Amino acid sequence: MKDIIYINGEFVAKRDAKISVFDHAFQFGDGIFEGLRFYQRNIFRLKQHLERLESSARILMIKMPWSQEALTEIIVESCRRNELTDGYIRMMVTRGEGTIGLNPFLCTAPGLVVIATTIQLYPESFYQSGLPIITASTRRNAPDALSGRIKSLNYLNNIMAKMEAVQAGVQEAIMLDRNGFIVECTGDNFFIVKGGVLTTPPTYQGALRGITRDAVLEIAKNLDVPTREEPMTLYEAYDADEVFLTGSAAEIVPVSTIDGRPIGSGAGKITRQLLAEFRKITATDGQKF
Ligand code: PMP
Repeated sequence: MKDIIYINGEFVAKRDAKISVFDHAFQFGDGIFEGLRFYQRNIFRLKQHLERLESSARILMIKMPWSQEALTEIIVESCRRNELTDGYIRMMVTRGEGTIGLNPFLCTAPGLVVIATTIQLYPESFYQSGLPIITASTRRNAPDALSGRIKSLNYLNNIMAKMEAVQAGVQEAIMLDRNGFIVECTGDNFFIVKGGVLTTPPTYQGALRGITRDAVLEIAKNLDVPTREEPMTLYEAYDADEVFLTGSAAEIVPVSTIDGRPIGSGAGKITRQLLAEFRKITATDGQKF
C-alpha cells in the first residue's frame, strides 16, 4: 500500500491529504460516505454503493458534480495507485467549505475524498465460533429525526453505542429503537434464524440498507431459505437458533452470545451456508479493475 489519497481532484501523499476547517463535514459532520470492499481486483457491488451514495446526497440536497462513471474511475485509480488487489475503500463526499454558520446553501462545491487501503479483518476464530455482543443502552436515532438510511458523516449515535461495546469488552452492540425493537448494530446489520426462517429488521425502523444485507437476502432466496423483514425484540434474538451480523468489513459474522446468553451453538448451519455462498460471489459480483 502506498498511502496515496484522492482529495478534491488530486492524488496526494497521506500527509498532504487535508481538508479545510471550514468544510461543513468538519464543522458539523455534514457529508456522506461509503465503505466498499474489493476482492482480487473486483470492487464488490460498486454500482449499489454508488446508488446508495446518490440517495444519501439527494436526501441531504448535496449536488454531486461527478457522474457514476467519473466516481468509478477515481475509485479504480485509487486502488491501482496503491497497488492493492484486496482491501477496503472509504469514499467521502463533504458539503464543502462554508461559514461557521449552519446554512448549507452557503457552502461552495462539495468535496470528494477516496481512501483505498488494506483492511483489518475480524480474526478467523469469530467466523468459526462467533462474536460475543451486547445490547447498548444508547437507542438508535429515531428515523423521523435522522434516518439511518442516510450514510452520513455524523456517526455520533453509533459511536456512543460502540463505546458501550468496547467498555464491555466486546466489538459490537445491538441498538434498539425507542420502543425496544432491534434496529441494527453500530456498523453492521442484524439477522436471526429461527425454525429455518431468516429475519432482519425492516429499514423503516432506522437501519441502514446494507449492501451486504441485500446480498444475504438474495442469497437466502436462491437457497430457498424463507426471508422476512419484520420488527423483532430481544426476546426473538435470545431465543434464535442462529444470529449473525452483516457488513462490508465483517461480511457475515456469526454471533456467539448476546448479553452473555449463548445463541444456538455458535456458527449455525444456515449462517455458514450463507457465508460460503457470499464468499463465492465476492470476487465476481462487481467492478473489475
Ligand atoms: N449499519 C451501519 C450503521 C453501518 O455503518 C454499516 C456499514 N458499515 C452497515 C450497517 C452495513 O452496511 P454494508 O453492508 O453496506 O457495509
